[in-house]
This record gives sequence, C-alpha cells and structure tokens, in this order.
Amino acid sequence: MNLAGIREAICEIGRRVYQRGWVASNDGNISARLGPNEFLISPSGVSKGSLTPDGLMLVDAQGSPLNGGGKVSTEWRMHQKIYERRPEIGGVVHTHAPHATAFAVAGLALDLPVLPELVYGLGAVPLVPYALPGSGELYEAIDPFVGKADALLLKNHGLVTCGKDVWAAYFHHESVEHSALIQILASQIGNVDTLTRAQVAQLKAARDAAGLTTPWLPPRFKEGKS
Ligand SMILES: [Zn+2]
Repeated sequence: MNLAGIREAICEIGRRVYQRGWVASNDGNISARLGPNEFLISPSGVSKGSLTPDGLMLVDAQGSPLNGGGKVSTEWRMHQKIYERRPEIGGVVHTHAPHATAFAVAGLALDLPVLPELVYGLGAVPLVPYALPGSGELYEAIDPFVGKADALLLKNHGLVTCGKDVWAAYFHHESVEHSALIQILASQIGNVDTLTRAQVAQLKAARDAAGLTTPWLPPRFKEGKS
C-alpha cells in the first residue's frame, strides 16, 4: 500500500466501524506505521465515520504531530506500545465493539475454543486489566500482553487489534466481534459448547503448516472437557 492507499484505508475502516456501531461519538482510533519514526493516526475529537485522508495526523513515535494542526488521539500511547514491542506490526485498530466489549465488561477473556476461525487466526483473546482510557495508563497495562496476542480485550473499555497492516488489524477486529456475538447468542439459547483438545490441536497444526507466525495464545478448556 502506498501512502495515499494507507490514508484511504484508515478512512474506509473508520466508516465501517462507525456504521457497524462499534464506536459512539468520537470513540476509537486507527493508526498505521509509515516508517521507523512516522505514523498516521485518526485525529482526536472526530467521528470515525467522518475521517478524511488529509485530516489524519502524522506523528512521530512519541506522538508529537509532524504536520502541525489537529489533536492527536489520547490513546496514541497504547498504539505506541504495540509498535514498540512488535516491529512487524503495521496497523492498529481500537474500538468499543459492543459484543467484544460486553465480554470485557463481564470480566471475561474470549478464550474458550468456540469457533475454528478464531482459534486458527488468533487463539485466545486475553483480557487486559482496567486502565483509565486516554490517560496513557494503557501503555503499561497492555505491556504483558502485547507480545502474546494480536487482539486484546480492555477491561470495561473495548477491543484493540493489530496486524501486518491496518486492514489485517481491522479483519482481526471483525473476527473477534463476530465470535463474541455468536457466543452471546449461543449462551442465550442455553449452551456454549466448545471444540475438543484434539480439534484445537488440529487447528494449531494447520496454522503451523500454513506458516503463520503471529502470536497464538492457547485457548482455555472448560473443566472436564476432553
Ligand atoms: Zn477506547
């Protein structure tokens, strides 16, 4: 993706997360790495549904604006931590996607092996302890988890995903939110059955055979599950 393509991708992802109701008001932020000390991030105080390519903020690794004007998202520090710890990451998406966030509010990780796609793509999605949003505290809070998973639930807050580029980060977001919705529906029907250990091992083997090297946290099995 060239620079214009990355700018357009951030705006398109902004429209999608807004239209899907994953953010309210000016919530959420989307960023991309352009170079070692150059990043694009959605501006503070602008709805993700109204992003424009020229309105995105160009910042250095400390989050200082490189192109004047505008206000950098208060959650830059969380993005910064991911880029610092994961040199292969090119994009980060953070929203309050409601079904994923419902797990975070319930104090639950999305770590049961329920759907093969999520087990294959991400493994378990851990729950990061609460930190005051926008305060920079998330920089420390996510530290123990960043190297272990491409998707993190933030307690009583939301979801953050990363990927080799901003689209990969967004697609992880879709997978997590979709899986969370299905688990909530299944629990309303009355039962969330999970894959067996053998079925999970099969998915992990397929993932390894495909050469996927992104972090993978082993899912949790319910007590007594074979
Ligand atoms: Zn947030």
